[in-house]
Amino acid sequence: MDRRMHPFLFNRDGGLSKPAEYIPEIRKYIQNKNKLAQSFKVKEIPTEDGTQLRGSDINGYAIEFLKSWQLPESFAKQNKTKKYILPNYKHRSEYTDIVFECECGAKLSNDYNMNNSNVRDEHNHSKKCKSFMRLESRAKIQRKRWRKTKELLWLGWNGKEISQRFNMTPGSLRSFINRNDRNFNEMRKLFKRAAGNTYTHLVHNENLPAKEASDIYNTHRATLNEWYRDYGDEWVKDFKMKSPRGSGMMWRGEYWND
Ligand SMILES: [Zn+2]
Repeated sequence: MDRRMHPFLFNRDGGLSKPAEYIPEIRKYIQNKNKLAQSFKVKEIPTEDGTQLRGSDINGYAIEFLKSWQLPESFAKQNKTKKYILPNYKHRSEYTDIVFECECGAKLSNDYNMNNSNVRDEHNHSKKCKSFMRLESRAKIQRKRWRKTKELLWLGWNGKEISQRFNMTPGSLRSFINRNDRNFNEMRKLFKRAAGNTYTHLVHNENLPAKEASDIYNTHRATLNEWYRDYGDEWVKDFKMKSPRGSGMMWRGEYWND
């Protein structure tokens, strides 16, 4: 996955991807839900053209692009249809999916106070838990959070939204990021670059009307043009999905390093 664009929004052989076609409608639907409503199913979303959406149409990055995530299975009971947490749900942090299980069986999900060495009580580690197990758990959940932070910033989440996903306070998320030598403003450019590049690709190469392309981002086209100018890449305007050079550059290799 090349993080210089949002490749899940368009097809390899041209045109918008299926999620991208319906993202403006889905966003409208989920934004209008009551703050006390917990989750939604993709198939319940009405579409203007009458298409019955299926869970497999909208998943993965598209769901996260809409500031949502799948309700963790531990909360989902026997229900086979996937449910997704609503972006405005008041108690959404209680349903975080960023958890890690310590070797002793304790589940780590809540805010981790890094300065507190007495972490046994914080997370109900069992009696057989060793100090090195707790140390390892801390490292692993932090690594998980770090990767997810970059991914969510690339998808346009802000600090408050990410802290809800992690069940952290915005302040401790910020210090977590600062401890790892980055800052929000630098990292937010990940989104602006990818959004500016993708928008320009859709309008310039795919001839999509500017309104349609900007609706996918729910962002004014002037802003998207500005992001492209400030953070975007020249090669986007020559970008052809099918050309061996372009596709090689876009789809091969892992651009995402720690
Ligand atoms: Zn433990």
